[in-house]
Amino acid sequence: GASDEVMKAMVEKIKAKKEFGQNFLKDSSILDKIIQSMPHNNNHIVEIGPGLGDLTKNLVKYKDVTAYEVDTDLIGILKSKFANEIESKKFTLKHIDVLRAWDELKFLHDGKYDLIANLPYYIATNIILRAFEDELCEHIIVMVQKEVAQKFTAKVNDKEYSSLGIMTELISKESKILFDVPPTAFDPMPKVTSSVLYIKKDLSKKIDKDLNKFLKACFVQPRKKLSKNLGSLLEKSKILALYEELDLNDNLRPHEVSSSLYSQMHTKVKNGRDK
Ligand code: SAM
Repeated sequence: GASDEVMKAMVEKIKAKKEFGQNFLKDSSILDKIIQSMPHNNNHIVEIGPGLGDLTKNLVKYKDVTAYEVDTDLIGILKSKFANEIESKKFTLKHIDVLRAWDELKFLHDGKYDLIANLPYYIATNIILRAFEDELCEHIIVMVQKEVAQKFTAKVNDKEYSSLGIMTELISKESKILFDVPPTAFDPMPKVTSSVLYIKKDLSKKIDKDLNKFLKACFVQPRKKLSKNLGSLLEKSKILALYEELDLNDNLRPHEVSSSLYSQMHTKVKNGRDK
């Protein structure tokens, strides 16, 4: 690897790129807290967006890590910084857009893994939904915008309850916000407060491919009656039959319906359509 001084000069030349959602985490107490929340298991670690490698450096102390980074300028720095770990195979660096990697490979690692990352916010929701689909991903511990973390952890009757909270309930054993992180912990500072989100998936469960689309339709007008929103998917008579079958009140609003009931509803709607 390059000498410390050469490395410092390389890092100083890097300008954070907005289009890649680059906000580098500089507060070491936050890095420590993320490391302390690492599950105690033998899973591999996948990191998305290692950036300048500050989180990576802590992760490789404990486990083998595979990281996906899209920015060519950062790849050079990471390769010198982690030359030893790459050589000893403790660290594998993939230069590719992670969403493309998922399309091409289906899994981000060829064995059970935990995803730990300070995510690029512009695709954070997408990444988490892809991690839900990836059957080899067990834990998700990611820094995201606080509002996004609240949506993923929302429960029935909460203000933020929507498709994301419902899918989280259906795929996980546990989900919670670990702690909030102020903009000052990053360089450059983001405009928003961040949170570290923790999700322990239940690997025996799967989410139906079309569920997200169905749920989005259910919440299209979140304050209206659910039966009204369902109108974009089903004829009136079918909605009536569905409500009767599930013994539902016509006044129900989308945020008042439990995730398991949504799952049942979706199954019935799908089966009804096939006929
Ligand atoms: N892990 C570093 C840290 O904590 O300081 C950087 C986090 S920064 C919020 C997000 C990182 O994700 C950046 O390094 C960015 O280049 C990378 N990134 C953005 N879009 C990506 C994509 N589609 N695939 C892989 N990495 C991406």
